[in-house]
Amino acid sequence: MEAIRATIRGDRREGKLRDAIIRRGQELPVAGWVRDAEDGTVLVHAEGAAAPVAALAAFLREQAGADQALEMTAVAAEGHEQFAVRGVSAGVFVVQEHQATAHHFDFRLQVGDAMRSWAVPKGPSLDPAVKRFAVQVEDHSLDHNSFEGPTSRGGVIVWDRGTYEQGGRVPWPEALERGHAVFVLHGEKLHGGFALQRTRSQTKPQWLLIKRRDDAARPGSDIAVDAPCSVLSGRTLGEVIAGERPSSGS
Ligand code: MN
Repeated sequence: MEAIRATIRGDRREGKLRDAIIRRGQELPVAGWVRDAEDGTVLVHAEGAAAPVAALAAFLREQAGADQALEMTAVAAEGHEQFAVRGVSAGVFVVQEHQATAHHFDFRLQVGDAMRSWAVPKGPSLDPAVKRFAVQVEDHSLDHNSFEGPTSRGGVIVWDRGTYEQGGRVPWPEALERGHAVFVLHGEKLHGGFALQRTRSQTKPQWLLIKRRDDAARPGSDIAVDAPCSVLSGRTLGEVIAGERPSSGS
């Protein structure tokens, strides 16, 4: 098993180079990922048997051309099962704070035309040392993502929302079926890599939601407590249930 990391700078082909590398990598085949960074920089991680990795390295040299900078180094293989584009949205996510019989946060990831859903009693955390218990519940429709308001037993606010990209070594959404899913959130409160790890498979499977260690990690913080307001209305769940207007701004 061989692995390389490559950076190609100054590309002006706006995604075409990334797509060409993916096509070549998949036909060889190698595993890993390709990512467009800002300013026409394309990052590549490729691994596999020596011959296809060498062939991809030759392809990258060819593609980089004379006026572009290519940096390439040998690295450790990471065990990827696919050669996929990173940095591209896999769908939307939403976190709804929900007062029902019990208070919890509903963490939802779009998979196809449904929102895969987990009830997280204490809510997500940006502290990588914290493992938040999450019970998988029935899928919800995308229509519900913007729901906010009082309900018969309490109420709901849109606590956070945004898009996410797949982040793991296993194809998405197969990673969810296998019980270990890594993804990157681009929300208003939640950012960076997260993992969902299934601990018990039952009618309502039990999982742990864990922040990965990266630049967006905030050790020692509890964002569910520190940032309580709706990203839609600026109101807290308590204000929504009481039918109050936002306490700030007016
Ligand atoms: Mn709920």
